[in-house]
Amino acid sequence: MLLLTLGTAAGGGVPQWNCACPGCSGARAHPDRRRTHDSLAVLGPDPSSWFLVNAGPDVADHLEAHTALRPGPGDERTPVVRVLLTDAELDHTIGLLRLREARNIEVHATAPVRQALRERLALDTTLTPYTTLSWHDLPQAGEKPTDVAGIEVSAVHLSTKRPRYAADAPEDSGWVVAVRLHDPVRGSTALYAPALAEWSEEFGEEAAAADCVFVDGTFWDDEEPRRLGISARTSTGMGHLPIEGPGGTAERLAPLPARCLYTHFNNTNPLVDPSAPEHGILADRGLEVAQDGMVIEL
Ligand SMILES: [Zn+2]
Repeated sequence: MLLLTLGTAAGGGVPQWNCACPGCSGARAHPDRRRTHDSLAVLGPDPSSWFLVNAGPDVADHLEAHTALRPGPGDERTPVVRVLLTDAELDHTIGLLRLREARNIEVHATAPVRQALRERLALDTTLTPYTTLSWHDLPQAGEKPTDVAGIEVSAVHLSTKRPRYAADAPEDSGWVVAVRLHDPVRGSTALYAPALAEWSEEFGEEAAAADCVFVDGTFWDDEEPRRLGISARTSTGMGHLPIEGPGGTAERLAPLPARCLYTHFNNTNPLVDPSAPEHGILADRGLEVAQDGMVIEL
């Protein structure tokens, strides 16, 4: 399978339209530092049957930016779009509205995510006049996976964190998941976890068995959100394990045999500046910083 990193930023992107912090200002001055909302395209054995993991505000630009994802040849329109969701956050889901020109949108999500989108965001009611929205359950890892375009997909449950618009919804371990992608022909496996609230035993086992792991890189250290005044909570308190420090993900990922890449960077993360010394710290541990538009073959 081929993995194409369409976007690598947390909510708001880099730059965020209403922010002039050093990360956002730097991205305005240096367009190569711009990052769009995190999303992944997956191409299986049939390269014309690509699918997406998460569909955020940039989705149509993502599809237009890569030749393999464009319609054609001729007058044909892309008839079906398949989207897997890691959670119900607006920055991972509002792209579904922008895909309404498709004849059919196939959405694979866990039960609580599906309920939030149908009942709180009224996606069925809103989109039915434009397209057909088909919902599919994303099975838990260990259960029989779903075949999507030749790739076996399932979900590693990560946390009960609900989006703010569904804060009073029932707790469920499937609110935030890592998507597990397995190519049965090549025997390769990838994990995509743009929001990782805790390092569970199950996630550790899945990561240790994978060939490629994408992990939450929202914040560099636990105090970053408080130090920079964007939240009263720590990184962990906001549902994102930090990269560095005790309990951070870097020390967990470094011993793994997998190719490990960080994604979902907030504009406060020093890694949005390519000259930051933090890049060297990760490189010394064999860990990578994902960029928009990377292609990984597994
Ligand atoms: Zn900013």
